[in-house]
Amino acid sequence: ILIDADYQPVRLLALLRKVQAQYRHIPAAAIDILAEALQIPRAQIIAVVEFYSFLHLTPQGRYDILISDSITDHMLDKENILGYLSSMLKVDVGEVRADGLVSLNNTSCTGMCDQGPAGLVNGLPLTRLDRPRIDEIAALIEQQRDISDWPAYLFAVEDNLHKAGLLLNAPIEKGAAIQAALDRGLEATLAELDRSGLRGRGGAGFKTAAKWRFCAEESAERHYVVCNADEGEPGTFKDRVLLNMHADQVFEGMTLAAAIIGAKQGFLYLRGEYLHLYDKLQAVLEQRRATGLLGDNILGRGLEFDIEICLGAGAYICGEESALIESLEGKPGIPRNRPPYPVTSGYLNQPTIVNNVETFLAAAKIAVLGGDWFAGFGTEKSAGSKILSICGDCARPGIYEYPFGIAIEQILHDCGATDVLGVQIGGPSGTFISNQEFKRQLAFEDLATGGSFIVFNNSRNVLDIAQNFTHFFAHESCGFCTPCRVGTSLLKKQLDKIIDGHGSAGDVAELESLCQLVKNYSHCGLGQTAANPILTTLQRYPDLYQNRLKNISYEPGFDLDGALEIARRMARRNDAGAHLSQVEE
Ligand code: SF4
Repeated sequence: ILIDADYQPVRLLALLRKVQAQYRHIPAAAIDILAEALQIPRAQIIAVVEFYSFLHLTPQGRYDILISDSITDHMLDKENILGYLSSMLKVDVGEVRADGLVSLNNTSCTGMCDQGPAGLVNGLPLTRLDRPRIDEIAALIEQQRDISDWPAYLFAVEDNLHKAGLLLNAPIEKGAAIQAALDRGLEATLAELDRSGLRGRGGAGFKTAAKWRFCAEESAERHYVVCNADEGEPGTFKDRVLLNMHADQVFEGMTLAAAIIGAKQGFLYLRGEYLHLYDKLQAVLEQRRATGLLGDNILGRGLEFDIEICLGAGAYICGEESALIESLEGKPGIPRNRPPYPVTSGYLNQPTIVNNVETFLAAAKIAVLGGDWFAGFGTEKSAGSKILSICGDCARPGIYEYPFGIAIEQILHDCGATDVLGVQIGGPSGTFISNQEFKRQLAFEDLATGGSFIVFNNSRNVLDIAQNFTHFFAHESCGFCTPCRVGTSLLKKQLDKIIDGHGSAGDVAELESLCQLVKNYSHCGLGQTAANPILTTLQRYPDLYQNRLKNISYEPGFDLDGALEIARRMARRNDAGAHLSQVEE
């Protein structure tokens, strides 16, 4: 596996992924070889392995199954599915079976919320899991059938495109955006992009033209273009569909950006959960090279640019742009201090633009149709359209594109949602809105979203939703800064305590003050938004929290009496006097 490897430290993650795929873990011998070849310490390699959830220091099963833990999977009976899978495969969750044939575990959202319950087997997506499918999967595993021989329908991933708007209707011709930009002039094309009002579609909403201009004006040896396809926000799957249906236009947008900022190299950072798209995307790139749309003389106009696809390895934080750049450099995806921002010091400390898949898709079409065309849709501060991933309690989950300014109630009508309790806009890091707020609009001025739109009907429990999201953040915290590393765990414990009925007077206030601490003192966006599920539900449904409290003045967050059990055993005492009475009745 490593004999003909391209030994550069920036390749470390890719090399580790190869080793993991072959040996089901990263053997010590591979770490030795890599440390020697890359001239980096073993500890640095181990740190990378330990950071990414798809890499392991100990062997996983020959069939490694991960089941998505997204809230929408839970709504589709995920717990029972997982339990059934565990019993059929005779392996506990989080374990490798004694014969090494199969391992089973949970994983964060796999981006299949429109066709769950979902999971992965050896990195490939399993969708619409139910008991008959599990019976079949268990039989295939016991027969030790190669995954390439498994029935294709087990891995079928549908696009579920239900509503196309100005971007998804009538994609542009291949090469049209580059041709238009070169004909019009790059400076004039940047002015068109500025006129369009396009803002980044990942959620933050920074003006795209301003970002590209800052990067272009930064003098440096090299510039880089990065497409962020690491959509890990639970409930988001639009980039999966955009890359499956419109990869050419996304690559075209990246090439346009490269021409404007003067980059010769670009990267598509594809989340590891989308491994199934890898070969198809490589084929699109090959075809673009063969037709002069990538390479050293694009369209015969002297433009040089190429794109490499880099796969992530199961870390939500790598959706944060500076963490993504760290990951591209073969390191753990820990967010950098900012400033400097990537536009001045990004990949290998060179000026780099990082944009979302949808942003590049839009930029390519704007280059062809002009800024006024795009600015003619949407609202004053939110030009154009937004592509949504809609899932949860609705009849038609999938992809919907709307001009900005659309009312939430219209979206709910279109996707067939009835008896709605509320909607989580923008995923766990976004906002929960109640059914009193459905006149609100989707726009940067009101409700911004990277694309996630999860519907909950009145059979759902708001506290269960907040709990799932809070656990998600505690799990995905990269651990770099204390307010988030410790704070998200404390939020999880405190919320569990209240939900489990052990909360007492003061616990909700303490939960709220902890939320503020995590929000205000965390290093990056993950920590700064980790308290949103609690804060937005607490604000709307304070009684739900209060009603779970016990009518006592105080109960500690841990079992003090239980902690003294060892001391009691050593003292050979178990009488009433050897027990603490913690709870004031
Ligand atoms: Fe890591 Fe959380 Fe700190 Fe961000 S806020 S750097 S995810 S620990």
